[in-house]
Order: sequence, then structure tokens, then C-alpha cells
Amino acid sequence: MPISVMRPIQAVIHQAALQHNLAVIKTCAPASRVMAVVKANGYGHGLLRAAAGLGSADGFAVLGLQEAIQLRESGYQQQLLLLEGVFHEAELHAAAAGNISMVVHNEEQLGMLEQAHLPTPVAVFVKLNSGMNRLGFHPERYVGAVERLAHCPNVAGITLMTHFARADEATGIDRPLSVFRRAAQGLNYPVSLANSAAILRYPETHTDWIRPGIALYGATPIANVPARQFGLHPAMTLQSEIIAVQELVAGDSVGYGGQFTAAAAMRVGTVACGYADGYPRHAPTGTPIAVDGRLTRTLGRVSMDMLAVDLTALDGATVGSRVELWGELVPVDAVAASAGTLGYELLCAVAPRVPVKVKV
Ligand SMILES: *Cc1c(COP(=O)(O)O)cnc(C)c1O
Repeated sequence: MPISVMRPIQAVIHQAALQHNLAVIKTCAPASRVMAVVKANGYGHGLLRAAAGLGSADGFAVLGLQEAIQLRESGYQQQLLLLEGVFHEAELHAAAAGNISMVVHNEEQLGMLEQAHLPTPVAVFVKLNSGMNRLGFHPERYVGAVERLAHCPNVAGITLMTHFARADEATGIDRPLSVFRRAAQGLNYPVSLANSAAILRYPETHTDWIRPGIALYGATPIANVPARQFGLHPAMTLQSEIIAVQELVAGDSVGYGGQFTAAAAMRVGTVACGYADGYPRHAPTGTPIAVDGRLTRTLGRVSMDMLAVDLTALDGATVGSRVELWGELVPVDAVAASAGTLGYELLCAVAPRVPVKVKV
């Protein structure tokens, strides 16, 4: 066994949770086909591990051609979508050969498709910029772009698409949705609009294809609404162990910078997990964490390879006690909220050095 595997930290990927969350999404939008978003290494769960748990999705959306090819070569027959389309003409041929669909979001990609001589035509998702101003055709140029693609012999099928900038906020989707409806007026093609937040909040966005990401992994797309309120289960547990215990007296402090000082005698556990494992360095004292199945708090600054937890009230917790950094007891969203970020970022940031175990 490689030495690195002996460090007690581990990410456990729960296949049953992925399946369950996909079922929740399908129940929420029963008439839509599901394009499961597995970009960013399956939101940190591993591309193939995520795809395995989400195997009954109707399609998979990825960022790059490499990921799409990996899914094809692993036997996935579903529709595969490149969320930013292709970056170079050479990729067009590989995409066509692999029967891989692509977003077309700008004039350059449109021109590339018109000029290429592809062995087989490709399916495209034509993206409208409905106000996010990241990717997509301007509403006034949208119909023109779609019509050019409709006449392009390299194009096999067209889906109309946009992405919401604020589906997770009070602002909602009314404005971008009306921008989309106006821009797409008179176009008769399948439509794909909704990310996780829109799926869970706005049934009017449940069109031909939905594009859930974060909800499939059991984290919330909406700040302040816990994932469990949507019936979602965490697909990842990040766990480790206590590797040392320190007895403190009043006035002792903990970690770099002595950011936490004990007001009274206390017991402090050192956990084998640090920011080099992907745990957020900005998580302050008080960030939730569980030891032996009991909730407690972190203390002081997170180090590269370790962090400190309060064991004062946890009788029996000692070296070897199991620590849950996030998972069933400690929602990743709660850690993220404490650290001023999102569950998305923490899941994606789990470091390659963390050993992964799949639980079926
Ligand atoms: C990432 C992404 C999604 C999924 O978003 P979630 O908020 O994770 O559900 C959907 N559509 C596009 C275009 C994306 O880039």
C-alpha cells in the first residue's frame, strides 16, 4: 500500500446519494430530460464516480472535450454537452467523431462550424446572453445565429439555451426569462434553461432539458436554504481522525497566530486535515465539525495539513476518533457559510492528495 494512503483523511463518495438526488430532481421536473452537470471533476467527486452515480441521467454536461471523450470511452451512450463549446477547430472533428454536442455561444464558434468539413454533423445548444453577460449571443443577434446554424450542414440538431445569473437570489428569473422568450420568438426548437436553483424554485423553467449541478451532489444552490429542505443527501463525506490531543489551561492559545485563546481549561484535538486537503483556510474559530458523531467547533487558524477542534465537551474523544469535516452531520454548506464561500467551491477544491473511497 502506498505510504500516502495511510494518512487518515478520506473523501467518501456516496453513490446512493447521487442516485437519490437525481431522483429528487426528476420528481421535481418530471417532464424534462436531465443533463447532469459533471464539470470540475464532477464537482470534486470525480468525473467517473459522479457519472456512475448519475448513470440514469439523459445526458452529461462537461467543460472540455477530454472529459466528454473519457465518458464516451467509459461506455456512456447519453448525449454529452460541452458547456463552453469548442475552443479550436481541431476539436470540432473530435467532437463530431465522438458524437459530442456543443454549446455555440459566439460568432467565432459559429464561423468555425460553417467553415468546417465534418464527417458527421454535431448537435448544438445555441446560447443566448439573457443578462449574465458571460457567454451567449446578444438577444438581437440570436435569431440570426440560430438561422445560420439551421442552414449549416455540419449541424445535426438545435437546442435553444440560456443560463440564469440570479436564479438563487430574490431577484429571480423573470427578467432573463422574458429576454429569452422575446429573443426566441418564432423559433421552434427544444429549450434548456434551468440550473439547480431554477429547477428547485421555478417550475416555469422546466423545459425540454434541465441542467442540474450542485443539487445532484446534495449541496444547496440557494444560500440560507439547507439542502435537506429540498430532500437532498450529501454525496461526499470528508472525514479524518484526531491525531493528537492537547490539554490547555486558561490563557493558552491554539495554532498559527494564536488566534484562539482558552478562557478556561479545555481539551483540543488536532485533526489530520488542512487547507492543502481543500479545507478552507478562512474557516474561523467556531466552524462546525463533528467528532465521533457529535457536533463541535474548530479552533484558531487552519494549517496546511492540520486543524484544531474543541474536545472539551466530548468525553472519550481521543487520538483515533473519527472526524467529519463535512457530510451527513455537518453540511458542506454550513462550513462554506462559516468560511464566507459556497458549498460549490469547497467540493471542487478537495485536493488530489485526499484518498477517495466509493460507497455503493
Ligand atoms: C454549472 C452550470 C450548470 C449547473 O449549475 P448548478 O448551479 O450547479 O446547478 C448549469 N448550466 C450551466 C451553463 C453551467 O455552467
